[in-house]
Amino acid sequence: MALGEFDLIARYFSDVGPADAALSAIGDDCATLRVPAGQQLQLSVDTFNADVHFPAAAPAAAIARRALGCSVSDLAAMGARPWCFTLALTLPLADEAWLAEFATGLNNAANAAGMRLIGGDTTAGPLAVSLQVMGLTAADTALARNAAQPGDALWLTGTTGLACAALACPELACPDSADSHWRPLLDAYYEPPLLTVFAQSLIGHARAAIDISDGLLADLAHLLEASNCGARLDIADLPLAPALIACRGDAQALQDALVGGDDYQLLFTTDATARDAIAQLADTHGVAVTCIGEITSGQGVTIGDAPDGFELPSITGYQHFQQDTQA
Ligand code: ADP
Ligand code: MG
Repeated sequence: MALGEFDLIARYFSDVGPADAALSAIGDDCATLRVPAGQQLQLSVDTFNADVHFPAAAPAAAIARRALGCSVSDLAAMGARPWCFTLALTLPLADEAWLAEFATGLNNAANAAGMRLIGGDTTAGPLAVSLQVMGLTAADTALARNAAQPGDALWLTGTTGLACAALACPELACPDSADSHWRPLLDAYYEPPLLTVFAQSLIGHARAAIDISDGLLADLAHLLEASNCGARLDIADLPLAPALIACRGDAQALQDALVGGDDYQLLFTTDATARDAIAQLADTHGVAVTCIGEITSGQGVTIGDAPDGFELPSITGYQHFQQDTQA
């Protein structure tokens, strides 16, 4: 007999992530969150539609991990500590094997991030996963996009371009059977980096921050617009993953790193004097960071130094509803 909605919720979603006495159990009409005194709730929601944001045929655990990883990245961008989340799940059918795999992937990702599932909604329809994530910051300390100042150093965690380049992999939907040279690209796509602990350590050091979901240039533009500043981007300092160069060649790898979305790395700015402190924090947390330029008083992005013949791509990231831009 097919599993009913309430059995399904009880079996797979009633105990996901670390328990927390400040959070109510699943089952009532609303979840109750007791926000600790002096803290603020940071909240973000993201929807992942099958065959738009992930291949419908991808392993269920990988879909869950990717969805939670992408969502938690918004908490990292604010310097928030992950706390809890809700899940709105739309399924074509209640396939128990798929659900068990999805719940395992979700539980692993939730435990890694340190967040409890506190409620959601379950409906029948085309496969879609919607996650609302909630995190905590001390009052009025959250990082924001709008606080960059001219003269700030501009920093990037990790490297960009890998996740978008993974879309070209013929085995995107069955990553376990992919050729080994695609592996780092598929890992970047299915397992966004968990940067929340490092990001919390940036509070008091970073001035502005944003996570890179649409692409480095596109999200840098968002930060600059919010801060009413420009930036000089030192292309020669932009880190490129060897695996990306191996799959795409030098020129395409650079394009991917600049315009490719989905890497969920962090872009942040600090006072220019904070360089040693940032290097130290990166070392402590095992996160690669690179200074890739400087905030300027102008508008838009100028190029500091670049390979001969380099032109800044005009494409500025993926936008839903817009046919002629492509991540
Ligand atoms: P209502 O009809 O009152 O909106 P539901 O019947 O949708 O409530 O859900 C019953 C309970 O199960 C609620 O506490 C809800 O938060 C929870 N829930 C439903 N779907 C999920 C899910 N996919 N993951 C976690 N909790 C869920
Ligand atoms: Mg409901």
